[in-house]
Amino acid sequence: MFGVTDAAATLRVAVIGAGPAGIYTADALCSQADVPVQVDIYDRLPAPFGLLRYGVAPDHIKMKNLASTLQRILEHENVRFFGNVNVGSDVTVPELLADYNAIVYTYGSSVDRKLGIPGEDLPGSIAATAFVNWYSGHPDFVEPYSLDATSAVVIGLGNVAIDVARVIVRDAEEMATTDVPDDVLAVLRASTLTDVHIVGRRGPEHAKFTIKELREMGELAGVDVVVDPAEVDHVESDDKDVKRNLDVFKEWAHRPLGGAKRRLHLHFHSRPAEILGTDRVEALRCERPDGSTYDIEAQLVFRSVGYIGTPMPGVPFDETSNVIPNDDHRVVGGCVEVGEYTCGWIGRGATGVIGTNRSDAKAAVTSLLADTDRLLARAVTPGSAQALLEERKVSVVDLTGWNAIDAAEIARGTARANARVKLALWKELLEAAAAQS
Ligand code: NAP
Repeated sequence: MFGVTDAAATLRVAVIGAGPAGIYTADALCSQADVPVQVDIYDRLPAPFGLLRYGVAPDHIKMKNLASTLQRILEHENVRFFGNVNVGSDVTVPELLADYNAIVYTYGSSVDRKLGIPGEDLPGSIAATAFVNWYSGHPDFVEPYSLDATSAVVIGLGNVAIDVARVIVRDAEEMATTDVPDDVLAVLRASTLTDVHIVGRRGPEHAKFTIKELREMGELAGVDVVVDPAEVDHVESDDKDVKRNLDVFKEWAHRPLGGAKRRLHLHFHSRPAEILGTDRVEALRCERPDGSTYDIEAQLVFRSVGYIGTPMPGVPFDETSNVIPNDDHRVVGGCVEVGEYTCGWIGRGATGVIGTNRSDAKAAVTSLLADTDRLLARAVTPGSAQALLEERKVSVVDLTGWNAIDAAEIARGTARANARVKLALWKELLEAAAAQS
């Protein structure tokens, strides 16, 4: 492993986004021995780990433990964390390119895909992306939701739909042992929901659920799963993954109801046509393939039909596929001829599980390292971006600051006998970081 000694021959790389894709990029850069590297990871938020921290469901504790692996990468001697820095306003892409030989954009996809149906904007119609951010303690999503309702619909047959449905049907006391902020837990405890409906526009063979997440739904205490046998019994598939899902649906369809406190209903071949309601959501109207419609009464509708990326000032963006256009991870149409790369959701779209970003990051670094000679040939002024941040009085949260936030969250966890409880407010995060940095 290289220590960074020869500044002139050191490849300086800025990674924009401290989620799994960004941190795996740093890992791939630091794990090779052909060229010395300095990797600076920038993030808009004071805390790293992106979707692992703000997307992976709080009750998926084993997956959350991946944070310790990512933390070790952040602590590498050739990696630095620049949290609370908004690239595009605090420092621009051309300014970063004047400091670094290369930039890797890994800032993810954080916005909800729209359904484009009437009633989508009614109160009670909620983007799953925002709801997930809220229960994950994201500082931009602190406005509380209410689960003062009897029936909710979750639209979509993907893993995010499963996460949202599971979090709202699960017994709140099971959520108390997770890192959800205290006010989120209070809302979950006050929930009056009895029925949650997952609605998909296509058949069970097209559901994108992964098997582990699907099976988990059928094992929740206090929840009966309701599936119409007519929707699943006749469906067959040669695809191994699809068949496993179908077997689960079929087993559920014939499982006797246990008089549980809550019911989770699955509806297939039900295209969301309209969210009904006068002042707020009252029902979801679904259309069957034959054109007939039926209504599911609900006071809440969670729209979970995918995430899309958004542009960053100074970076090319493909408005059709909502990604940064790239060829083998090399950004097409960037500010410099060679020097901009991308991976993760903002490079390929919102697909795959966290581990997918590891191979994606390795592939991006392979492309980057293949360009090493040309990257090193471009004159840069090391430290110029950091000097601008200091001049602009940006309160950068570095690794010490993040470690202080981490410690504050772990300390807060003791009140609930948990490993941690998240700090969700900007003020709390920045004060915790400043207290010890
Ligand atoms: P997703 O897997 O792409 O699922 C989106 C769902 O929305 C699909 O069922 C899709 O149906 C449906 N949909 C799209 N447009 C629609 C429309 N206009 N009307 C009705 N339905 C529509 O997306 P996701 O659930 O947001 O997940 C994103 C990625 O994160 C996925 O790769 C997922 O596996 C991953 N993830 C993984 C985990 C985990 O491993 N535990 C947890 C969360 C997320 P069609 O198929 O008909 O288009």
